[in-house]
Amino acid sequence: GISPIKGNMEFQNVSFYYNAEEPILQNFNLKVKAGETIALVGETGSGKSTIVNLACRFYEPTSGKILIDGVDYKDMPLLWLHSNLGYVLQNPHLFSGTIRENIQYGKLDASEVEIVRAAKLVNAHEFIMKLENGYDSEVGEGGGLLSTGEKQLISFARAIIADPKIFILDEATSSIDTETEQMIQKAIDKALSGRTSFIIAHRLSTIRSADRILVIKDGAVIEEGNHHQL
Ligand code: ATP
Ligand code: MG
Repeated sequence: GISPIKGNMEFQNVSFYYNAEEPILQNFNLKVKAGETIALVGETGSGKSTIVNLACRFYEPTSGKILIDGVDYKDMPLLWLHSNLGYVLQNPHLFSGTIRENIQYGKLDASEVEIVRAAKLVNAHEFIMKLENGYDSEVGEGGGLLSTGEKQLISFARAIIADPKIFILDEATSSIDTETEQMIQKAIDKALSGRTSFIIAHRLSTIRSADRILVIKDGAVIEEGNHHQL
C-alpha cells in the first residue's frame, strides 16, 4: 500500500505554460511544511490560481517538480492523490440536488453523522437548519438558490468531509458582504488546523491567521512574511 500523506509540499524549479507563448511561472520554488497555512495574495492575473491548480494537480508543471513528502506527485495515483486533497475553487460548483447530496459528493460513503460534522466544522450547520427543509433543501441549478457565501460554505464542507491532509481555498473574487466574510473566516479558523493549507484571499481578515503570507507578482514571490511583518 501507499503510506498516508503527511502534507509536506515542495515546488522545485517549477515552470508552467498554459500554452506555448509565455510562461506563467518560471523556476518557482516553494517549500511548505506539513500543517502550515500559506496565504497567497497579489493582483489579478499574478498567478495565484495557477499555483494552487498545480498544487491540486489539475495541471502539471511544464518543467520542474512538485513533491509531496519528498515524492514527485506525478508518481502518485491521481485518484488517490485527489482523495487526500480538499479544495474550494474560485467559482465553486454545486449541482442541482440537495445540500446533503452536495456535501456527500466529497465522500460518497459518508454517513449522516459525518455530513453534519463537516457542516458544523465549517459553520454551515446553522444556516442549513434555518432552511425550511434543512439538509434536504434543494440548492437549485448551479446552487442558484443559495447566496455566494452559502455556496462557498457548502463546497467547503464537501472539501473537508474526507478529512484531507492538504487543503486549498481559492476565495471568490466577487465582492462578499461582511456577514459572508465572517462565516468564511470562522470556517477557516476551525477547519484548517492540522492541515497543510493554501489560501488565496482578497481580504486581510482571511489571511491574518496564516503562518506565511506570500505576495505574488508575475508568477513569483516578491515579498514574504506574516501578518505582523507585512
Ligand atoms: P485572480 O486574482 O484574478 O484570480 P490569479 O492571480 O489567480 O488572478 P491566474 O488565474 O493564475 O491569476 O492567472 C495567471 C495568468 O495566467 C493570467 O495572465 C491569466 O490570463 C493566465 N491564465 C489563467 N488561466 C489560464 C488558462 N486556462 N489558459 C490560458 N491562460 C490562463
Ligand atoms: Mg485566481
